[in-house]
Amino acid sequence: LTIQDAFLDDFAPLQPARIDWQDTTPVARDFDDPYFSRDDGPAETTHVFLHGNQLPERFAALPPRARFVIAETGFGTGLNFLCAATLFLQQAPADAVLHFVSAEKHPLTHADLARAHAGWPAFAPLCAELARHYPALTPGFHRLWLGNRRIALTLLFGDAAVRFGQLQARVDAWFLDGFAPARNPGMWTDDLFRQFARLSAPGASFATFTAAGFVRRGLAAQGFDVARVPGFGRKREMLTGHFLGGWQPAHSTPGHALVIGAGLAGATSARALAERGWQVTVCDPAGIAQHASGNLAGVVYTTPSAHATPQNRFYQSSYLHALHWLARHDFPSQPDDGALTGVLQLPPDARHRDKQQAALDSGLWPADVLRPAGSGWPDASLLMPAGGYLRPQRWCEHLLRHPHITVLPEAVETLTATQTGWQVGTGHRTHDADIVIIANAADATRLAGLHWLPLKRIRGQVSYYRATEASQRWSQAICHSGYLTPALDGLHCVGATFDLHQLEATPRDGDDARNLAELAANLPAYHADLGGADAALAGHRVGFRCQSTDFLPLAGPVPDACANPSTPQPGLYLSIAHGSRGITGTPLCAELIAALANDEPVPVDQEMLAALAPARFILRQRKKQPEWMP
Ligand code: SAM
Repeated sequence: LTIQDAFLDDFAPLQPARIDWQDTTPVARDFDDPYFSRDDGPAETTHVFLHGNQLPERFAALPPRARFVIAETGFGTGLNFLCAATLFLQQAPADAVLHFVSAEKHPLTHADLARAHAGWPAFAPLCAELARHYPALTPGFHRLWLGNRRIALTLLFGDAAVRFGQLQARVDAWFLDGFAPARNPGMWTDDLFRQFARLSAPGASFATFTAAGFVRRGLAAQGFDVARVPGFGRKREMLTGHFLGGWQPAHSTPGHALVIGAGLAGATSARALAERGWQVTVCDPAGIAQHASGNLAGVVYTTPSAHATPQNRFYQSSYLHALHWLARHDFPSQPDDGALTGVLQLPPDARHRDKQQAALDSGLWPADVLRPAGSGWPDASLLMPAGGYLRPQRWCEHLLRHPHITVLPEAVETLTATQTGWQVGTGHRTHDADIVIIANAADATRLAGLHWLPLKRIRGQVSYYRATEASQRWSQAICHSGYLTPALDGLHCVGATFDLHQLEATPRDGDDARNLAELAANLPAYHADLGGADAALAGHRVGFRCQSTDFLPLAGPVPDACANPSTPQPGLYLSIAHGSRGITGTPLCAELIAALANDEPVPVDQEMLAALAPARFILRQRKKQPEWMP
């Protein structure tokens, strides 16, 4: 490690791979080593990693609905991934899922990835899909679903030892594929080997192209039995083996899940579980997306920052993951569902201007995610080119349209733990469920045992103004102190007020005037397009944002608040307090909850997991006051 490396913090900006192309072989300039065999990359992968881990036999022997987890050091061009995923799609049962987790400190750019993939026409369909969903080069975890949802790729961008140290997963097979140990010692450290042991399922296998003695001894010292076997091509030997320890799997087979709330949080959670084979009942007396998720349009955006705190990392990761969900679902696909045409963000004051400029300068936001809005806009205005606006209700309806999901117009009144799960009373009847996801915003506090949740309700009134000939041409949502969306059904959203103290549910005329005045002050030309003071108000709507006291959602297991807050109540999860970022925040929270409920690799790092965990509020209180009881 260079001194500079040692000073970099865990989530410093990434340095993409610097590649010299020697014919069709990529060679890493900084390590002076090719990414794969110059003779035949796929054949080398098949010999070393697929056969080295007995994957053909193991994939073919998987039971229905199985889950298999491969973890790799060094994603590089993704060749090993493409080979393993292709084999899995051919050999494993049609309803089994492959999780492929791979750490990469210097990801290839999109252009280099495409160039490497051009050499393997046999993988063309998967390459095209990977290219379409390959994440922005930001440090941290990126979860992508590919191969008709049979393959989950989790890319951990950053140093392998650091990132595996942040992972929660149980690995069945390891691909150790750093560059040659002599050239890339950082990929062959005892720290990393310790992580392999921590993350290995009982009997986990490993394979690597190297036979270096210190690698063999290092792995053996962590509890792997290690064998030298014939290597590929000119390499005489390589290593394979198994982990001799490991913890027993928690048995989790998809059963019946009950979701309380049919807004964005409930719809995304229901979808994530249904796609994993759960039968899902969603209860909401008001129907689909009738409360805070019921506005005509919402903005797909985030709040960029220069600081890689867990909170800001959540804002970035959840935004990128929301874009992945939208791409995967091809939503919006109808013009009146919205469009991902980019979002402009104008700083409403000097503090925001400094914050936005710092984000632009930080290196944490690649230009395909965030760039200066350019001339004609106030200093430090931002463009999020991949963002946009959509009709949240249509998005929720789309997500809930799944053969495993039933939506019932019932209000959940009681929630009781049973021997095997939960009994949910709705006034109409009782439902038995193996797991329950509470996704009804501030109403969650009405359920027994949840009165302690630190939630605020923030009133927001949005005004709907009729489109004019001039305003029909707007194509991008714009955020300032309020926001503005292009026309949907001939109406623009102009919003929204922000009231902590005024909690009246009926719209107030004064609020429409406030929204219009805010628009006039920040975007005078747009105000004029709407007709200025004569803008035609066509309607308005009040919603209540639910926010926690530290501004992050509560997503994850519900603690037993009266006993040990670190002990979750089995099968009980929250996804609430998404504030004004429900469209952006809910897909990653749903993915996280579904991963926990299914004992899958968790799609966020452990620090972020703790920052989202509902138990954090109890742990903080107990730190101040050890005897504290909710
Ligand atoms: N498996 C890859 C493939 O299929 O194309 C080839 C991997 S290449 C031999 C080694 C990879 O390890 C490179 O992509 C390199 O950037 C990455 N790497 C090197 N040092 C690293 C570190 N400390 N943490 C994570 N990745 C690292």
